[in-house]
Amino acid sequence: MDKNTVKTFRFGVLTSKGHAEVHEMKLPKLGEHQILIKQLACNICTADYGQWLGLREHQGYPMAGGHEGAGVILETGAKVVELLPGDFVAISNNYCGECEHCRKGEESQCVIRSSYDLHEGGYKGRMGFAEYQVRNATAVMKMNPELSPGEAAFLEPLATAAKGIGKLRVSPQDTVAVIGAGTMGLLNAQAVRACGARVIVTEMMEKKIKTAKAMGFEVIDAGAADPVERVKQMTGGRGADAVIVAVGATKANEQAAAILKHFDGRMLMFAAAYPAPELGISSNDIHYRRMEILGTYLGDTKDFLEAARLLNQRVVDVRPLIEASYPLEDIQKAFEEAARPGNYRVSVMLHESGREEGTCSK
Ligand SMILES: [Zn+2]
Ligand SMILES: [Zn+2]
Repeated sequence: MDKNTVKTFRFGVLTSKGHAEVHEMKLPKLGEHQILIKQLACNICTADYGQWLGLREHQGYPMAGGHEGAGVILETGAKVVELLPGDFVAISNNYCGECEHCRKGEESQCVIRSSYDLHEGGYKGRMGFAEYQVRNATAVMKMNPELSPGEAAFLEPLATAAKGIGKLRVSPQDTVAVIGAGTMGLLNAQAVRACGARVIVTEMMEKKIKTAKAMGFEVIDAGAADPVERVKQMTGGRGADAVIVAVGATKANEQAAAILKHFDGRMLMFAAAYPAPELGISSNDIHYRRMEILGTYLGDTKDFLEAARLLNQRVVDVRPLIEASYPLEDIQKAFEEAARPGNYRVSVMLHESGREEGTCSK
């Protein structure tokens, strides 16, 4: 029933705090450089459920969010060069390719980036919780068909981790502490391990400690021991070369500074929280200890390529990070589940039947 016959599609929308609904709209015409995707899964990001909780109201309504998606190509525009119907893909960045940022490989700063997130009917967002999508052929990455759609949908969050790890300049000699074993903490931890570095994860919640240990990490139970002392012990008194703060909290920032080696430690601020946490670190400390405090957000095309490699080769295994899946009809329940403290990603499945029609042209 798919190809050419798709005229409308249904998609998930946040209409106000705590309310997710399914709406329907006409499918845009397929442009020459575009592809029609049958979306299979879209995972609910913190940015999505944060707004559902009423913590990110500034993002606006109606919010047709969802940017962690994967699906199968049904149709390609006349000038699409490499992608074919049947290809299994995950969503990456929208960018123009013409502006100065795009030409420099800084696609996440594309000058018309925000225009992609405005749609007919006043809908905002990336429209990931949609049965079908027309997208630019440049805005997807090919994925290994052996991954489930829910796994492939980790492309975007893993790309953001790849971006941050690049900024942190992780080397195989480093010991890197990751504060927080939530979805982003464990994506970061796995990507850092893939660089050859030693990784120490700190976490308070029992469930997340178990998940991190099952992934083979050295884990500090921050509820039972002082993570600063433990990291010092585990590193012969030195401290960590770098720390990734994957929890948005003043306490986590303070801990991160204390966990770092005395001189030249690097700290990556990965998480946001609302209201915004305090930095919690004295500027004298930053000066005398020659600390580097780095921020990161989003990813560029090269980061998506790296994330695709890590997922496609299962160097990063995201299967333990999928908490549950819900059909689009149950999007409200999906948000409730995603917002439950301690939960990993929740997948919204956009088609009941999976991807049998589209299984790929390997
Ligand atoms: Zn996200
Ligand atoms: Zn651009």
